[in-house]
Amino acid sequence: MTKKSNKRNKFWRPKGRALDVQAQAQVAQLLKGKPNRPDLLIEYLHLIQDNFACLYKKHLHALAGWLNISMVEVYEVATFYHHFEVLEDDAPTPEQVTVRVCDSVSCMLAGAPDLIKALEAENLNGVRIQKVPCVGRCEKAPVAVVGQNPVELASLQKVAQAVTTGDITCKDINVSLEAYERQGGYQLYRDCLADKHSPESIIKTLEQAQLRGLGGAGFPAGRKWNIVRNQPAPRWIAVNIDEGEPGTFKDRVVLETKIHDLLEGLLIAAWVIDSTQCVIYIRDEYPAVRHALQLAVTQLSDNTEFKLPNIQIRRGAGAYICGEESAMLESIEGKRGLPRQRPPFIAEVGLFGFPTLEHNAETLVWVPEILNKGADWYLSHARNGRSGLRRYSLSGRVNKPGVYLADAGITLNELIEEFGGGMLEGHALYGYLPGGASGGILPASLADEPLDFDTLQKHGCFIGSAAVIVFSDQDRARDVALNAMQFFAHESCGQCTPCRVGTVQAAELMQAPVWDQMRLEGLAQVMEDASICGLGQAAPNPMRCVMKYFTHEVV
Ligand code: SF4
Repeated sequence: MTKKSNKRNKFWRPKGRALDVQAQAQVAQLLKGKPNRPDLLIEYLHLIQDNFACLYKKHLHALAGWLNISMVEVYEVATFYHHFEVLEDDAPTPEQVTVRVCDSVSCMLAGAPDLIKALEAENLNGVRIQKVPCVGRCEKAPVAVVGQNPVELASLQKVAQAVTTGDITCKDINVSLEAYERQGGYQLYRDCLADKHSPESIIKTLEQAQLRGLGGAGFPAGRKWNIVRNQPAPRWIAVNIDEGEPGTFKDRVVLETKIHDLLEGLLIAAWVIDSTQCVIYIRDEYPAVRHALQLAVTQLSDNTEFKLPNIQIRRGAGAYICGEESAMLESIEGKRGLPRQRPPFIAEVGLFGFPTLEHNAETLVWVPEILNKGADWYLSHARNGRSGLRRYSLSGRVNKPGVYLADAGITLNELIEEFGGGMLEGHALYGYLPGGASGGILPASLADEPLDFDTLQKHGCFIGSAAVIVFSDQDRARDVALNAMQFFAHESCGQCTPCRVGTVQAAELMQAPVWDQMRLEGLAQVMEDASICGLGQAAPNPMRCVMKYFTHEVV
């Protein structure tokens, strides 16, 4: 047996990418004392990017080593989310400030394309200008976010001023546990803990009130709680504050004043389904709400006598698809936000494989109020044959865009007149999107339909998260539909071909002066039939509505 030579072959190279020792030390320093759990990958990517203004590959490599996972896993997650910027190691460090200008429907109607052109033409201290999907401030369109500072009713001058004065942080939201408790807050939860209520009676009240999930899907809340409660322990709760549907900003507005209402709703849900693990997932576009939530959770744990479940707050990273319930769970687990195939449903196999109750923020905010005031009170708000209350995000060509609490059966004409201050001067109602980009487009002739669950399906639309965008005779429905389709093409997770390819092809075809309607309908059919999740299934809605109600624009 010959002795093995220690001499390496001249072609030998270490496998994989060589570790940068300095980057390794920087990452180790940043993450000192933090748990090396792979599910926290997105949190750690944020931490690194916040510190270095980008994600250099050497830092991704170091992070992979620190978490003991493959570089591929880190890289695919970092490149999936729009808010992460991955750069080569020798690339210059980008400007700390990015100006993100929303180009979704409401901002488009308010002149975002011109604002973007003006900003690009003006070299504002070299800051980067990015076109981004809805940032959730449609009532003050157009919106540009300078760093984390949302500049509302944005103009070149306003953005330039924020850049030059370094005004790049978000404004704090006032959070007061004392004020909430003074109004009786958390008494209901204390009563639950003292067994003055039973889980069954709470679920029964929610069922009597017919409260439905207000994030878009509209699944009955009480039934959902029952299903999860009957699954084997441990059971988890996930709160979805990833409202990214263009035109939707109600959760942000509600949470600016009702953070503790949300937390009390969450605690009651945790008590009813007997869960000790809660995760709140919040979109990266809402830093002020995220800070307020962190503060509110600290106020609770420091100042109340009751034991809290474990509440984690997770930060999204700019991916609309993570508003889809199973994609959000993937993201919380530190992965790309790819929607899961169902069954199994997340109520059975959810977060980390455990049964999970997932709720949108507004739904949980309603829980204490409905339980305190009773199902009859909630149902006493009735109009046009529908009962209950909900919050509408109203934007577009109206005088007073905003979030309005109204009867669930209100019509568009009533909403505009009673809350929106009428149409803008010189504009006549031409059409509207009742449920954001995915809910379809209706003509002015259907503005007397109740805006509720189950009332718009017969017209090829749905209410979803009640993001009502109004457009006028000075706009074209085909432009609105094209904007929506381009949004879906941008936000498709790419997992299934009908959605990934169909949205891109449709967006191209929709730019022709005369639409090839047979081809578009063929694409719509295959997207609807063969996409895994609601994004691909609903993406054709606005386009189909244009062919149905605004045919004159595309022939
Ligand atoms: Fe992803 Fe689109 Fe398929 Fe949904 S429909 S899983 S977004 S590719």
